[in-house]
Amino acid sequence: MNKFESVETLVIGSGPGGYVAALRSSQLGMKTAIVERSQLGGVCTHVGCIPSKALIAESHRYDVLRQFNNVDAAASFKNAQDFKQGIVNKQAGGVSYLLKSAGVSILEGEASLVDEHTAIINQSGAEQTLSFKYAILATGSRPIELQAFPVGGRILSSTEALSLPEVPTSLVVIGGGYIGVELGQMYAKFGTKVTILEGGEQVLPGFETELAAPVVWQMLADGINIISGATAEKVVQNADSITLHYLKNQEQHHVTAEYALVTIGRKPNTDGKLGLARIGLPVTSRGLIETDEQCRTAIPHIFAIGDITAGPALAHKASYEGKIAAEAIAGHASEVDYKAIPLVVFSNPELASVGLSETEAKAKSIPIVMGKSTFAINGRALALRETEGFVKIVANPTSGIVIGAQIVGVEASTLISELGLAIEIGANVEDLAMTIHPHPTLGEVIMEAAENAVRKMMMES
Ligand code: FAD
Repeated sequence: MNKFESVETLVIGSGPGGYVAALRSSQLGMKTAIVERSQLGGVCTHVGCIPSKALIAESHRYDVLRQFNNVDAAASFKNAQDFKQGIVNKQAGGVSYLLKSAGVSILEGEASLVDEHTAIINQSGAEQTLSFKYAILATGSRPIELQAFPVGGRILSSTEALSLPEVPTSLVVIGGGYIGVELGQMYAKFGTKVTILEGGEQVLPGFETELAAPVVWQMLADGINIISGATAEKVVQNADSITLHYLKNQEQHHVTAEYALVTIGRKPNTDGKLGLARIGLPVTSRGLIETDEQCRTAIPHIFAIGDITAGPALAHKASYEGKIAAEAIAGHASEVDYKAIPLVVFSNPELASVGLSETEAKAKSIPIVMGKSTFAINGRALALRETEGFVKIVANPTSGIVIGAQIVGVEASTLISELGLAIEIGANVEDLAMTIHPHPTLGEVIMEAAENAVRKMMMES
C-alpha cells in the first residue's frame, strides 16, 4: 500500500451531489479530490435523470410523427437508444471536463474509510491511501431489491429498463411513483401494452388528486392499464414472460407480460465497504446519514449530501447540498433552506410542485389564499396544441407572499422555477401579477393565477 497524497477535501461519489461539491470546493481554493468507483456523473447521468428524459423526449417525438407518417416503432426505438447514449456520453464528458478544468484530482476506485482522516481507494485490487482534512460523502443510492421481485432476466430495475434493446410488447410496472409513471408512459408511447400496479389509491401518491388527474387521463388515453389499491406479492419468471401475482380487494389476481419493471424505491449506499461503522458514523433504520443545516454529520469534519441524507432523492437537492457543504468547509455561514425544492414528474402532461400545496397547508392549519388559472385559453398553449392543465399558487392571505405552487401541463418543469424564485425571494402574488410576461407564452398562466389570488385577497379585505 503506498501513501498517495493528502487533500483538504475528499469527495466520495461523483453524482450530481459529489461533482458539484468538488467543483465548489476547488473554486473556493481547497485542494480537492473526488473518487468514483463506477462512472463519473453518477446515477443521474448514466441511469437516472438524463437517459430517462432523453427516451421520454424521443417517445413524444415518435408519438407525434406516427400520427402523420408511417414510422416504424422498432427503428425509432433503436434511434432513441442511440440518441440517449450519445447524450449520456456528452454529459459524462462534461462532468470530467469541468472537474479537470477546476483542478480537481479524479481518482478511480472504491473508497473505504479506515479512520476519521484516511481513506483507502481500491481499484481492481490496487490500493492507495489518501488522507483528508474534510470529507464529503456523496455515495448515492441504488434500487431496493426484494426477494419477491428478484431483479434479473425479465425482471428489471429502472437501470435495465433504460437500456432494453427493443420495444417490449408488454410490461408490468410495479410501483406508480414518478419513475414508474415516467418509464411506463415512455414505453406506452412506443406501443408497449403497459400495466401499472400501485399500492395506494392513485398513481403519483403525494400529488393532489386534481393535479394527478390530467396525467392519469393521458395515461389511460395512451392505453395504460392502471391497477391501484393493489399489493404486489411476487413476480415469477417464465420461459419468455413474467407473471405478477397481486392482491386486490382481498382477492388474488395475476397478470402476465413480457417484462416486469420494479420501481419500489431506492436504498442509500451507506453499507458495504464504505466503512461508516469503522469510523463510528451511525445511520438511521433506513440507512440514511443524519446531518445538520450545513450538511455536517455527527463527525464534524465529515459531511453527507444527496440520496444518502433525508429528504427527496433528487439530483438538484444533491447539488444544492454539495454547494452548501463545500462552502461550510471553506468557513462560510451557508445553510440549507429546503422551502423551495421543486419536485417534477416528466410525465405527459408534466407535473411540478414547489413549496406547500393547498392540501398540505390546510392539513397544517396554515391560512392561505389560492390563485388558479388554466392553460385551456392560453394563446401559446393553443398554438402548441397542449391545452391540458393548470397552475395553482398558494399564498399567505394577508401579505400575499407565495408559499407554494403546483403546475400540471406543458413545460411545467420549466415554468415551476419562476415560482421557486418567488418563494426564495419572498415575492407576493402582486409581484407575480405585475411582472410583465411576454405574450403569447405559457408563463402568462402563472401571471393569471397570481391575478386570481390578488382578486380574492381584495374581495376578502
Ligand atoms: P448518485 O447520483 O447516486 O451518485 C453516487 C455515486 O457514488 C455513484 O456514481 C457511485 O458509483 C459512487 N459511489 C458509491 N459508493 C462509492 C464508494 N465507496 N467509492 C467511490 N464511489 C462510490 N432526479 C431528478 O432530480 N430529476 C429527475 O428527472 C430524475 N430522474 C430519475 C430517473 C431515474 C430512473 C432514477 C433512478 C433516478 C432519477 N432521479 C432524478 C434521481 C437522481 O438520479 C438522484 O437523486 C441523484 O443521482 C442523486 O445524486 P447523488 O449525488 O446523491 O448520488
